[in-house]
Amino acid sequence: MDNSYDVTVIGAGPAGISAAIWCKRLGLNVIIVEKRKKIGGQLQKIRNDIIDYPGLISSNGDELIDSFEKHLQKLNIPIKLNEKVLTIDKENKVILSENHSWFSKYVITATGSGPRKLNIPGEEQLNEHTKYSSTSKNVDCFRGKTVAIIGGGDHAFEGALNIAGVSKRVFLIHRSNTFKARKKFVEQAISNPKITIMKNSQVTKINHENNAVKSINISNKENQTLEVDIVLIRIGVSPNGKVLPIESHDNKSSLVDVDKNLRTSVPWIFATGDIITPPALSSISTAVSQGMIAAKTISLEV
Ligand SMILES: Cc1cc2nc3c(=O)[nH]c(=O)nc-3n(C[C@H](O)[C@H](O)[C@H](O)COP(=O)(O)OP(=O)(O)OC[C@H]3O[C@@H](n4cnc5c(N)ncnc54)[C@H](O)[C@@H]3O)c2cc1C
Repeated sequence: MDNSYDVTVIGAGPAGISAAIWCKRLGLNVIIVEKRKKIGGQLQKIRNDIIDYPGLISSNGDELIDSFEKHLQKLNIPIKLNEKVLTIDKENKVILSENHSWFSKYVITATGSGPRKLNIPGEEQLNEHTKYSSTSKNVDCFRGKTVAIIGGGDHAFEGALNIAGVSKRVFLIHRSNTFKARKKFVEQAISNPKITIMKNSQVTKINHENNAVKSINISNKENQTLEVDIVLIRIGVSPNGKVLPIESHDNKSSLVDVDKNLRTSVPWIFATGDIITPPALSSISTAVSQGMIAAKTISLEV
């Protein structure tokens, strides 16, 4: 790794990969840094067909990642994996990661989004139970179990419907009285005898015993404690904007504020992809196009 670059791209999801390809094509000295051991970002979670990205119909995210990886190799774009950026020193244009620090004239942040958290006691320990992360792929893990699914959108309802057949019982717990999930999912869940829907109910604590979930505390009219084996949190996504040394986030959505060229309030730092895009509009195509806009804007200034 060198100690100076024209552009540092943080994150190797679709937005970062596209930004780096365009930087390279435009003659900029670029590096991508990615905190994980593999590129692709959220593509790693896509198990179904991807049919909406022009020219590259893929049977899952891994297949599209292979194509992106070959593209990066063909253009000889340097990429540093297992390199988590911690912060950016705004005064000196220095990027600080867990292992290195280096100067960069420009930064394109493409750190994406991840599952939104409840921020309640006992939630962090759930990270160890990653085998429960997919209700479609790992359905057998739910056999005979009592499962609490927290959320009121498609992801929560689809999860409940996926596992209702094998699990002992599913509690779908939602803090409000109405659901964002599509009507079809809600109707199917209501008519499924294995699924109990609890509205106006807020989970306040997840209790563990012997490294396993034991129960959850629920704040509602009854203030219940419910014995469950598995808890799935499905309350949407939230942008990963922590590395940015800026205050300009939308307060409600936490999306990073940018101008039409995707420049943040710091003139040499750009933001692209899910970090700036409302969840309803986020996609591979959106992220890829934003990577191009940031790279081209920078190339006109360097
Ligand atoms: C289950 C699922 C199915 C989907 N299906 C589709 C679909 O069919 N079609 C479609 O168009 N879209 C789909 N999407 C959405 C699409 O995957 C995202 O919109 C897209 O991946 C966003 O790209 P991104 O580059 O902005 O972020 P991400 O893909 O989230 O990538 C961000 C990258 O930044 C890295 N990173 C984060 N913080 C740091 C740090 N501090 N230092 C270094 N690296 C960091 C992350 O590890 C990650 O690799 C799906 C998403 C999911 C979860």
